[in-house]
Amino acid sequence: MLNGQLKPAYNLQNGVDSEYITWLDVSQRPSDTRTLIPFLKYMKDHLSFRYRDIVTDAGYESEENYLYLYESGQTAFIKPNNYEKSKTRKYRNDIGRMENMTYDGEKDCYICHNGQEVLWKYDKRTKTDTGYIRITSVYRCEECSGCPYKTECIKGNNCRTPMEERRKTWTLYLPQSG
Ligand code: SF4
Repeated sequence: MLNGQLKPAYNLQNGVDSEYITWLDVSQRPSDTRTLIPFLKYMKDHLSFRYRDIVTDAGYESEENYLYLYESGQTAFIKPNNYEKSKTRKYRNDIGRMENMTYDGEKDCYICHNGQEVLWKYDKRTKTDTGYIRITSVYRCEECSGCPYKTECIKGNNCRTPMEERRKTWTLYLPQSG
């Protein structure tokens, strides 16, 4: 179990096994997400074994962390960032969320509340502060014109484009905390 305590000038992390602290790390990395990999690397270098199951709270969820654990043969038990939110009725009834649409794997598209396809358009690459290259996918629906569910489905009240001209677009990525 990994716990983070954020202080003004440093970030203290501790690893716990059966209620005993087995490793500590102090760094100036401001977010817990970015502490996980260095923490596990230092621990592996100094202990004579490596833990197979890694349990953390939601602050440690990121694609980079999942990939690291997968490649090192460890199992991630990381609470998803949106776990609490995803249990609410508001979240589950939100027709604009991809999680509430049906995915068609053959076409790589989601079927929206209006029965239209929200299709994969392109991938984009971004580099995180740690140098990790993250690939995210952009999906868009081309049939939003005249949709009776549009104001429920398309969010972003500050968007300058008039609602009648807007189309449902989202970027599929795994959030990075902090
Ligand atoms: S706004 Fe577009 S994506 Fe949303 S329900 Fe209507 S047609 Fe589907």
